[in-house]
Amino acid sequence: MGLKENIEEVRERINRAAAKFGHRPEDITLIAVTKTVEEDRIREAIQLGMKDMGENRVQEMLRKQEAFQGAHLHMIGQLQRNKVRQLPDSVVLVQSVDRLSLLEELERIGIRDDRFFEVLLEVSIAGEEQKGGCPVEEIPSLLDAAEAMTHVRCRGFMTVAPVVEHPEESRIYFKKMRTLFEKNRTIGYNRNQLDILSMGMSHDFEVALEEGATMVRIGTALFGKRS
Ligand SMILES: *Cc1c(COP(=O)(O)O)cnc(C)c1O
Repeated sequence: MGLKENIEEVRERINRAAAKFGHRPEDITLIAVTKTVEEDRIREAIQLGMKDMGENRVQEMLRKQEAFQGAHLHMIGQLQRNKVRQLPDSVVLVQSVDRLSLLEELERIGIRDDRFFEVLLEVSIAGEEQKGGCPVEEIPSLLDAAEAMTHVRCRGFMTVAPVVEHPEESRIYFKKMRTLFEKNRTIGYNRNQLDILSMGMSHDFEVALEEGATMVRIGTALFGKRS
């Protein structure tokens, strides 16, 4: 199938699964994950209406920067502190913030370069911290740190569910994330604005949406298997 058909099919599946939670199609943001995808296909995806693209490496974002014109970029991979200053201006959301030192570097570069960073806290909901993501216990202190910053705003949470055979096995993790999201939303933050819950990839996005995801990050189901 071509990219156009893949996008249509994924959107239909998104709408159906989101409706089960009570979300409307416009409540959900689809991120097209373009890591390893070459520039021509990225341009094609943008022409077909894709607006938000996700990449997991700063170097690759920079290399393909031209192709992303007209789209919003999302940083979804582990981010080293020394790469923060290289993030292209088209990055609208840094989804993989999982430690204080990274928040502090974003704030420092924000002040220095007069930039603002919107971020998600990446949460290691299954306790697989070696893969990235903060432990659940660290969420309050990271949110408090972000709240006190002037050039960083936390917009919610991101998670990558563990690799499992059947997506149903991840439902428990998505449920836990939604609960954490709701709980932290009741805290009266002034600057933090917790309205994004980014969870669900090609193999598990329907389960994630049924459990209340507002953003899904999809590569393979749109572009095919990565080599
Ligand atoms: C690669 C990647 C995705 C997309 O994965 P697919 O299985 O190809 O849909 C989503 N989120 C993150 C953080 C990724 O690294």
